[in-house]
Amino acid sequence: ADITLNDIEKLEVLGHGNGGTVYKVRHKRTSAIYALKVVHNSSDPISCRQVRREMDILRRTDSPYVVKLHGFFEKPSGDVAILLEYMDLGTLDTLLKNNGTFSESQLAAVARQVLNGLSYLHANKIIHRDIKPSNLLVNRDMEVKISDFGVSKVMCRTLDACNSYVGTCAYMSPERFDPDRYGGNYDGYAADIWSLGLTLFELYVGHFPFLSEGQRPDWATLMCAICFSDPPNLPESASDEFQSFMECCLKKESNERWTAAQLLTHPFLRQ
Ligand code: ATP
Ligand code: MG
Repeated sequence: ADITLNDIEKLEVLGHGNGGTVYKVRHKRTSAIYALKVVHNSSDPISCRQVRREMDILRRTDSPYVVKLHGFFEKPSGDVAILLEYMDLGTLDTLLKNNGTFSESQLAAVARQVLNGLSYLHANKIIHRDIKPSNLLVNRDMEVKISDFGVSKVMCRTLDACNSYVGTCAYMSPERFDPDRYGGNYDGYAADIWSLGLTLFELYVGHFPFLSEGQRPDWATLMCAICFSDPPNLPESASDEFQSFMECCLKKESNERWTAAQLLTHPFLRQ
């Protein structure tokens, strides 16, 4: 049976995203725990649009690597809320902050799951466009799931270009800034792979790749670094397999970048 807002009680705040608040909630009758993302229309129409889009996309997805949608609520006031599968360990970003950097075998496990998710999404013509540590959720079984589809896009035609400035700029790929130079027949899917590469890089070294530790990110420095410098190199400590995997993710030319399906066969994931 469908869950209504009256059936659930708020337990605590899990976090704030842009424009919305995520609560840990309990279904009164079954005691099942969920996450409820609430956006108030009055405070922020853009976030409302994003949460609707997220709902729209999650409704079309059914994968163990994508966070599950359990309900959608809309008040007459225009406030919207979506009920999501609860991921009890939070995001990869909080795990990094609390537990420190990830080992290669942990990263291989993360990469395998996110790539399974991306390969599922891409096969269904969905581009996430905001892959980063704070949008990858983890539970106590160390399952990693893709979340936060607020700026994602469903491709209508396969070669529909989708080069709009959405998502978090830091994780944006070179062809999103400069499609003529790095794009070829840029279709958008490869941008998710670039962002995954930077995400794994950050989880390994502990800070965002194009910046040195503690450096404050600013848009111009980042854009120059992403477009004009070589892709970042992993430290010497990284294995050959990991180095090679990273190179396949961080090819500046989007046509040369490996697809999710190709990366799933990479030797790095065998460990
Ligand atoms: P942004 O994407 O703007 O950087 P964000 O990812 O933090 O922000 P949200 O996606 O709205 O924004 O989520 C806010 C926080 O709520 C997340 O960082 C996470 O800690 C928590 N959260 C979101 N969804 C869930 C979930 N399904 N289970 C557990 N915690 C969640
Ligand atoms: Mg997010």
